[in-house]
Amino acid sequence: MKYMVLPFGCQVNRSDAERIRTILNSMGFEESEFEDDPDLAIKGIIACSVRQKAVDRIYGKIRNWNASKGKSLTFLSGCFLPVDGKKFEGLFDFVFPIDMASRLPKMISERTEGGMESEVLPSSGEFASNDVMRQEEIERFWQLRPTYSSKSEAFIPIQNGCNKFCTFCAVPYTRGREVSRLSGSILAELRSLVERNYRSLTLLGQNVNSYGLDKGSSELNFAALMRSIGEIGRETDEDFWTYFTSPHPRDMSVELLDVIAEYDVLAKQINLPLQSGDNEVLKRMNRNYSVEDYQQVVHEIRRILPEATLFTDIIVGFCGETDAQFERTLEAIKEFQFDMAYIAKYSPRSGALSARWEDDVSLKVKERRFIEASEVLREVTALKNKQMLNSKQKILLCGKDKQKGYLFGHTEGRIPVRLDSNAARVKSYGEEVENREVGEFTMAQIISTGLFSVEGRMV
Ligand code: SF4
Repeated sequence: MKYMVLPFGCQVNRSDAERIRTILNSMGFEESEFEDDPDLAIKGIIACSVRQKAVDRIYGKIRNWNASKGKSLTFLSGCFLPVDGKKFEGLFDFVFPIDMASRLPKMISERTEGGMESEVLPSSGEFASNDVMRQEEIERFWQLRPTYSSKSEAFIPIQNGCNKFCTFCAVPYTRGREVSRLSGSILAELRSLVERNYRSLTLLGQNVNSYGLDKGSSELNFAALMRSIGEIGRETDEDFWTYFTSPHPRDMSVELLDVIAEYDVLAKQINLPLQSGDNEVLKRMNRNYSVEDYQQVVHEIRRILPEATLFTDIIVGFCGETDAQFERTLEAIKEFQFDMAYIAKYSPRSGALSARWEDDVSLKVKERRFIEASEVLREVTALKNKQMLNSKQKILLCGKDKQKGYLFGHTEGRIPVRLDSNAARVKSYGEEVENREVGEFTMAQIISTGLFSVEGRMV
């Protein structure tokens, strides 16, 4: 019998899906990629309900599935509000928060004749009803060895939930308060990946650099966790890059930056969500920092990690954002010289505080601001990428390009690299590219640069 799990949304959901796959594999189910596979006995969704569109997509999917359901079972987990969970209960066979996923074998075995309970997971008792139980449940889930979807890049969850309560975000309500994974369990997973030649490892959490704070002095803080990873790099003498996402500017300490500078295996790439370049808007977003605070953090990044690339997230058209306030975001993009920015037009997310406020910036204005911000960003990134011309860069090969004979990859700073559009004219070089393994490091000379990516030739 077969199963299929569809993760929607961000990397956290994709990472959670990798563990759910392990649970189902251990129960003897076989994964299928096809929704219309007649042997499908289990169909699941790892939900992302940050936007109404995503919620509508879940409704669309389950209605389709239920129309030809037969004896198959359906489940929903991931990011959703308790109130949405209640609505979904009538449509799916099982709806459970991700920290209860280790109960899935019991839920399934109770519904299937003969029982198919996994031996991997203890699965007795009631759903966790307090913080201690919640911690135990999610730890049990994290201890599962994921069924990774790549052989060279992996995501390692280190935290679930968030305590920051940004007014535009529903995560503290969908995933609950921060729970940090035990550092021993994180380091064991990372070490086993390094030993299997994984080259790109990303630590995942909704507020990743506040890791450990929920456990006080009984757990490492984020800088100490990163130091332990650096030591694994030295001890094993393996070559890999460790990234983390998403951090909060308030928790970006000098101690952390010093640790990143000290170890080769800690990638020199920082994602620092700015969201807005205006203090009044930042206040309404409850971001708890000012543009001046952000400036100070960027100053420290440039001082301690001068080679690091800087990525950010920006929201345009947040409730009440005036033209003048938006202009300050444009200024910030120029001032902070981002290497990449994920720009989003604001849309209310159900459950978030701002969803109760008037969404008073029209779609037309949001679109105009999105285009303007993207244009300013393109000017900045084109100039920054130009500085890479003719330089030699270490590249992680990530996959074959759509065009035969070419590969794509990225630098340590996560700048996308395509190898090499002129290679078609150099037959032997094209073959060399073709024969390289995905997941290897290679050196390349940058031979041309674009707005958001560069092109290189292996050297
Ligand atoms: S820090 Fe990130 S996850 Fe937490 S509330 Fe703010 S935007 Fe959401």
